[in-house]
Amino acid sequence: MDGLTLDFRTNRGRVKALRDISFPVRRGRILGIVGESGSGKSTVLWSILGLLAGNAEITSGRIDFGENDLLRMDAEAQRAVRGEQISVVFQDPMTSQIPVLPYARQMSDILYRRSMSGADKRRAAIDMLRRVGIPDPERRVDAYPHEFSGGMRQRAGIAMSMLTGPNLLLADEPTTALDVTMEAQMIGLMRGLRDDFDTTIVVVSHNLGLIAEMCDDVVVMYAGEVVETGEVHDIFHNARHPYTRALLECDPARIEDVSRKLPVIPGDIPDLTKPLSGCIFADRCQRAKPECATIAPPLVARGTGVARCHLLEGPLADASWPPPASV
Ligand code: SF4
Ligand code: MG
Repeated sequence: MDGLTLDFRTNRGRVKALRDISFPVRRGRILGIVGESGSGKSTVLWSILGLLAGNAEITSGRIDFGENDLLRMDAEAQRAVRGEQISVVFQDPMTSQIPVLPYARQMSDILYRRSMSGADKRRAAIDMLRRVGIPDPERRVDAYPHEFSGGMRQRAGIAMSMLTGPNLLLADEPTTALDVTMEAQMIGLMRGLRDDFDTTIVVVSHNLGLIAEMCDDVVVMYAGEVVETGEVHDIFHNARHPYTRALLECDPARIEDVSRKLPVIPGDIPDLTKPLSGCIFADRCQRAKPECATIAPPLVARGTGVARCHLLEGPLADASWPPPASV
């Protein structure tokens, strides 16, 4: 993803929802995008899927997938890539599964591009249901979604999304509807699938515990910008941006507790219909200096990623920042 910039046209004016979003997605790894609601993290995901609302307008940037820029492929090629090589796990399986069709039928429909017999499609569906931990899949493949528990439906949703052997799996808050035990199982399942199928996974969440447990790489978004990126251990032990540090602050159990949600930081995300200047986080930053409100900080390379803060570079650089990790 390189320089993605996107506005939503609304009756309040243009909302500058994503501004110059760039980060690499490394093959065979799990990337987590974390941020508060309104950070633009889901919009990034929907851009990759080509499922943006009609009032969205991408004004610049590229989304490279293999040799191609997804934003500049013709419609037929996009459909083929998005149907076969990129797939998605939704937050609520009830919205993505068809209640009136048994899984056998829904799953063979997903394989409609393949020249396979009906029996082979059924076999593929059963194998994938077994792989995601559905007991007795030979029988359960004929079940309807309402006959499954929430956790089983989410597993079936993952089976459906893995059926075509995608290179890239996208997941938007995949465990929101689940309890902590099932969430931990789901994290194990998705990591296992990544290992078995060499699928790259991008997961969006406001749940720091999920990101810490599941991901290899992390992108921290705030109000439509990338503020920090890095490998997971670097982000959780050595965060450099004041926003990331505020998210992680005072919680020695933060990595173990998968139920932990983003803490509340005083203040609100700025109004993205207004002209923006300076650091986007300045209103809420405890370290802000007057210049932060007028001069936008650049992204600078730090550790295993990048961070966007004046304390790290330039005339406002502060040698005592970031303080050492507290754990
Ligand atoms: Fe805070 Fe200034 Fe850094 Fe922005 S640039 S995060 S306001 S210290
Ligand atoms: Mg969202």
